[in-house]
Amino acid sequence: MDDHRKSHKLSGKTLAPGMGRGKVFIYGDVLTRLDEFYAIEQEQIDEESQRFERAVESVSDDLASLSGRVRREIDKHLSEVFQAHIAIVQDIYLQNEVYKEIREELVSAGLAVSSVFRRWEMRFRSMEANVAVQKGDDISDLSRRLISTLAGVRGHALENIPLGSVLVATRLLPSDTVYLARRNTSAAILEAAGQGSHAALFAHEIGLPCVSGINDVVELLAPGDEVLVDADAAEVIVNPEPLQKTNFKARQQQQEQASQKARRQAREPAVTRNGQTINVLANVGSPEDTLEAMRNGAEGIGLYRIERVYLGRQEPPDCEELMDEMYDTLVPARGLPVYVRLLDIGADKPLPFLESFREINPSLGRRGVRFLLEYPDILLTQLKTLLNLCGDFDLHVIVPMVTLPDDLRQVRKALTNAAARNQITCMPKLGAMIETPAAVMMAAEIAQYADFMSFGTNDLTQYTFAVDRENAAVDAYYKDSQAIIFKQLRTVHEAVPEMPLSICGELASREAYVPNILACGITKLSVAPPSIPTIKQAIRQTAVV
Ligand code: PEP
Ligand code: MG
Repeated sequence: MDDHRKSHKLSGKTLAPGMGRGKVFIYGDVLTRLDEFYAIEQEQIDEESQRFERAVESVSDDLASLSGRVRREIDKHLSEVFQAHIAIVQDIYLQNEVYKEIREELVSAGLAVSSVFRRWEMRFRSMEANVAVQKGDDISDLSRRLISTLAGVRGHALENIPLGSVLVATRLLPSDTVYLARRNTSAAILEAAGQGSHAALFAHEIGLPCVSGINDVVELLAPGDEVLVDADAAEVIVNPEPLQKTNFKARQQQQEQASQKARRQAREPAVTRNGQTINVLANVGSPEDTLEAMRNGAEGIGLYRIERVYLGRQEPPDCEELMDEMYDTLVPARGLPVYVRLLDIGADKPLPFLESFREINPSLGRRGVRFLLEYPDILLTQLKTLLNLCGDFDLHVIVPMVTLPDDLRQVRKALTNAAARNQITCMPKLGAMIETPAAVMMAAEIAQYADFMSFGTNDLTQYTFAVDRENAAVDAYYKDSQAIIFKQLRTVHEAVPEMPLSICGELASREAYVPNILACGITKLSVAPPSIPTIKQAIRQTAVV
């Protein structure tokens, strides 16, 4: 047995609790994963040049269809970005440089594209003007597109992850999570992901045990290695001994029995020791999440993140497609209150069909409601769909990233106008996510336009501590249960005592902080479906002071 195959232990941090075992599936970056970079012989020059020509054609076709779709569904100006991309990819100077690289350096089309596009990218990036830097981004996107096309890659690498795998990756983007499901992935091990990252909350939401903070894990593990992931203990056993496997399975079974029992109790209401009923709802992103939430005793959907509907496709959904997705996700909760958040795109959740929608400081840029107000068509598609669903559900609409009262006023106006234009009389309740200190301080003004408010403590923490929630290197500053966060919850409650307040950030899933949260006047918690039983239990043990 060589050293690598010996049983050993790796330690990290718990990102999402639970235990899972299986064979390692390494998820690398598209550009390192592809087998497209190789040297060629003289007689292969023509063949490689033709492969490049066909890739240019195929990418141009894709971009043209994308441009048409974005023009119809979102915005004429945004669609022009794709036209600009077509112009770049068909630029005769650029193409000639690639042909020359293949011919003179005797390299594959993929390697030639990579080198030539990189040189052009660097040229633009070395210029000072913002527009040149943006151009550098465009070129880098196009290089990725061309290389993927050359390799015949169309789908996403995670689409075909073998059943029962343990996913190992440097990091996970929100767009990657679209392809993951608990049914095919039993655990995840990540090199870098912060506690407040979307990878963390997604793993928690679908009940995927996840350990992070293991340096170079992608190199330390090999595809097919057997691993036992104990995310509760933040430990991974690689190539376990038979006895370790037996013990692990026994503990997994015990956990399963304990959670069955907790589930049975979770169907009962959560009443505090001094008689106050607190509603526990679920954060969901897909029909599977809602079904799991209902099994766990959810009293409604407290946050439906609709980003997955947009992230998983190359074109934006139209009203009909959005309606189908929303209906399927909400229908298991029919008769209960459901809170659907408008698209919260931007920052760490870029849209795949808007690759060029990039900003230098995206977390402080056009995200959430700012993006929606800038692109009224994409807002309108959502509002029309929600108005059509209103009769079937006890529907609430949440507006993300509200900072100014006017943000909410404008969305309310758009909703009222859309209802009038489509002769719909059923109006959903409209509320604001409170996830910036500015919104906390202006709660009374925002309240003029709000039927309810929901605290997004993940972003509230990010913006209070000026800490990038996705950046594991500054995790020590990401303190979502610090006194200053509770102080902000209390400030809002005192400013608008009659306003129904809920929390849908990860803080609500931390049982140790339930007493602090309830002491701030919060009456609804929305948590990851697997956390419902423990949070209900914690509420029952609390006396609200
Ligand atoms: C939050 O910020 O707490 C929140 C619930 O929204 P998201 O995590 O999707 O940004
Ligand atoms: Mg948020």
